[in-house]
Amino acid sequence: MIGGGGATLRAALDRLPRRALGFFPTPVRPLDRFRDAQGGPRVWIKRDDLTGLAFGGNKTRKLEFLVGEALERGCDTLVTGGSAQSNHCRQTAAAAAACGMECHLVLGGEPDGVPDGNLLLDTLLGATVHWAGEHRKGETIPELVAGLERAGRRPLAIPYGGSNAVGAAAFADAACELYDQLGDRLTHVVVASSSGGTQAGLTLGAYALGDGHEVVGVCIEKHDDGRRFSRHVSDLASQTAALLGVAAPNTERFTFWSDHLVAGYGVVGDLERDAIALLARTEGVILDPVYTGRAFGALVDAVRRGRLTEDDEVLFWHTGGGPAVFPHRAALTGQD
Ligand SMILES: *Cc1c(COP(=O)(O)O)cnc(C)c1O
Repeated sequence: MIGGGGATLRAALDRLPRRALGFFPTPVRPLDRFRDAQGGPRVWIKRDDLTGLAFGGNKTRKLEFLVGEALERGCDTLVTGGSAQSNHCRQTAAAAAACGMECHLVLGGEPDGVPDGNLLLDTLLGATVHWAGEHRKGETIPELVAGLERAGRRPLAIPYGGSNAVGAAAFADAACELYDQLGDRLTHVVVASSSGGTQAGLTLGAYALGDGHEVVGVCIEKHDDGRRFSRHVSDLASQTAALLGVAAPNTERFTFWSDHLVAGYGVVGDLERDAIALLARTEGVILDPVYTGRAFGALVDAVRRGRLTEDDEVLFWHTGGGPAVFPHRAALTGQD
């Protein structure tokens, strides 16, 4: 049954402006052939790679609320930033196209030959790309927004990864969607965590629903100070709770696994390669090399080390990222 907290949360989410961009609810399936091969707990997969917006992914959920806000404010342009292979930037470009808005992306790096993967899709979707050198987290968004405003545009700045309170609220909504599919049977939800909005929203949502499962954020970025990232995620959840008028979970509710960051952001190693091959060959599901390959690798490792056992019931949240397999073709086939 849905508790009082859940009812308050759902009513608050219903009041936020939202623009439909994807297909929801996304499917949930048990990974039975994977389990037969691997042993350990029952594992489910939540297919947010199938949200449908230009190859899908978790940013579609955030963008439904962020674009809802942009349209309510009368904006005509979306501005965001990330790495050259950012899934978030590609989905933002698609959202802008679907709503008749302009899209400007500030991407880390320099132009480099024929565009591939997400960058190719950004181009096809008509986004304007601004190269930002070493800045791959949208550091120069404010300058770009100021220039667009001087030119008479009405831009909405969307932060790195779409992770502000509005973006994270979309994952409190996703927690409700999951609850309606599986109830409170799960012990763990495992998800890749990078800008933190997905983990913040899922943790807040489960808490507000009174659903006791642990949300495990598998850290994708290397942080000099891991406590700073955990503070960032719990602060973001608190801001989101304030936006929605529900109670915020305390810091102990946030779980981070960070022992799988072998070589830093976007560096593909055996963990990612093996996890991608295992799920592809047992279930026919493609993971990406940067986020979901690493997060699923962490899940497999946790099963092998007995951190997750047969008594657990685990859901792996597939957050998308498929287009990045192509530019990582060398690392994925061991030819790098
Ligand atoms: C952005 C992204 C994530 C991480 O989500 P955050 O909310 O930024 O933590 C995970 N997987 C994929 C494929 C992504 O594009």
